[in-house]
Amino acid sequence: MEYTWNDIEQHINECTRCPLSGTRHLPVMGRGSHQAGLMVIAEAPSRQEDQQGIPFVGKSGEILDRLLGDCGLNRKDIYITNILKCHPPGNRDPREEEKEACFPYLKYETFLLKPKVIVCLGRVAAQRIISPDFKITRQHGTWTYRKNCGLTATYHPSAILRDPSKYEIVKQDFLEIAQKLAGL
Ligand code: SF4
Repeated sequence: MEYTWNDIEQHINECTRCPLSGTRHLPVMGRGSHQAGLMVIAEAPSRQEDQQGIPFVGKSGEILDRLLGDCGLNRKDIYITNILKCHPPGNRDPREEEKEACFPYLKYETFLLKPKVIVCLGRVAAQRIISPDFKITRQHGTWTYRKNCGLTATYHPSAILRDPSKYEIVKQDFLEIAQKLAGL
């Protein structure tokens, strides 16, 4: 059976596949253009995202918007989502069983979007999507290719909040992402 975007959203809204359904305030489905060539994947909704049901709100969202703007990209033209659709209490790392339970939703989002470029934000997303031993410090900005889709990773905007000197590093990674997109 082929699911639509609305079907996926409805399943996520009603999902009880892992214990986070009991602690979340709102599930957070991906947002953005369903025609986007660029899919951005982070690890899990923050507390603010949990309150609003929207990915990348708050300070991390402001940084992401600034990065996109500096590279000639716009949030409305991309698709942003998370590995987990529900907030882990205390912002702890997602557990393996939670990632496995939630992964089918990401697969459906990817199947429907068919992105040309996937950018993982942070270690957790990079290790789930690109390689289990991905080292964000050493391998950010590197590329691998699967079925005509380029995959790369960079630091999560929350890492820039903790260390503002990372902004330029992430900006360089996003500039290359923008170049790849422009060349497709
Ligand atoms: S995190 Fe994913 S699998 Fe767990 S309850 Fe939320 S939507 Fe369902």
